[in-house]
Amino acid sequence: MSKKVLVVDDSPVLRNIIVFNLKKAGYEIQQAVDGVDGIEKIREFKPDMIVLDIMMPRLDGFGVLMEKSKDDAIKSIPVIILTAKGGEEDKDKAISLGALGVLTKPFSPKQLISSVKEVIGDAS
Ligand SMILES: [Mg+2]
Repeated sequence: MSKKVLVVDDSPVLRNIIVFNLKKAGYEIQQAVDGVDGIEKIREFKPDMIVLDIMMPRLDGFGVLMEKSKDDAIKSIPVIILTAKGGEEDKDKAISLGALGVLTKPFSPKQLISSVKEVIGDAS
């Protein structure tokens, strides 16, 4: 069974790029369009890891990290966050809220795949 990654980002363009590359690498993917959708899909899909944007409507990435940490069933699922260039504060805050790693936009497909692999290993 393939390892499952949930991609939570409000940008359809970025989501498509991430999904395309992770599928190509063999991972099973689901997508969420904002933080509220993200929390729902974390509970439903039970991913092996989450790729999480910070700036999103309804509930941002920090909110997702906070909600997630309150729920024993999902709190140990590893998260890599996506930050904009120069977002050092975002990065520190996300790490303090339990994120495992950070990808700074724009990132290459290679960086994306190697970060995911570092967290959950190969796709199968
Ligand atoms: Mg965003």
